[in-house]
Amino acid sequence: MPFDEPSLTPRPAPRVRDDRPATERLVDIRARIDKAAAIARRAPGDVTLIAVSKTHPATAILPLLAAGHRDFGENRVQEAEAKWPGLRDQYPDVRLHLIGQLQSNKARDAVRIADAIHAVDRASLVVALARAMEQEGRRPTCFLQVNIGDEPQKGGCAIADLPALLAEARGVDLPVAGLMCLPPAGLEAAPYFALLAKIAREHDLTGLSMGMSEDYETAVTLGATHVRVGSALFGTRA
Ligand SMILES: *Cc1c(COP(=O)(O)O)cnc(C)c1O
Repeated sequence: MPFDEPSLTPRPAPRVRDDRPATERLVDIRARIDKAAAIARRAPGDVTLIAVSKTHPATAILPLLAAGHRDFGENRVQEAEAKWPGLRDQYPDVRLHLIGQLQSNKARDAVRIADAIHAVDRASLVVALARAMEQEGRRPTCFLQVNIGDEPQKGGCAIADLPALLAEARGVDLPVAGLMCLPPAGLEAAPYFALLAKIAREHDLTGLSMGMSEDYETAVTLGATHVRVGSALFGTRA
């Protein structure tokens, strides 16, 4: 066996009982990411760990900030607005990633608060974000979300529609860093990650926002530049 920890086979869902503080879990997760990067002959610094703090209060986030972590993810603009301005006052170099589906009428609020927006999935949102960036004088990094498993209930543009969406985004000079996906639940994620990476390469995009608590190591071996980890870090959400 050339490799011991961490195993690359799917791990069971995050344990419900894990009494370790989030700061300890953070060190463990970061080590697993670095190990997976090494296996894939990638530089550990090429992978950003986004601590997904949705539903968790500022008191749960502060220890991670104090430990030096700076990248955090929220799903909803409203929740981000309630929590993050105060935290950012204390830690001005924090980077906030909006990872959830975004309504066009929230584009301006999103641009005001976020440093990255991960779920850009339609032309109307591209246009709204471009206008909001103009108005706000801020340019959060954008990821185009692809509905990689072609699931009717999921956000993301269809694979076939990505070239047009990307052209639209490039046409209005949106700062597109790459692609994002959420593979179908309950299936092996690796083929979907590999497919997203292939599509990104075909379009000269280097950013890949993929991998969550159960599959972030697999995502890193397949090229993820941003992994979005919530429950493995903060515990199971209520
Ligand atoms: C909640 C969420 C995550 C984190 O999920 P975990 O399984 O808790 O790690 C990642 N990405 C998106 C888009 C999410 O909504």
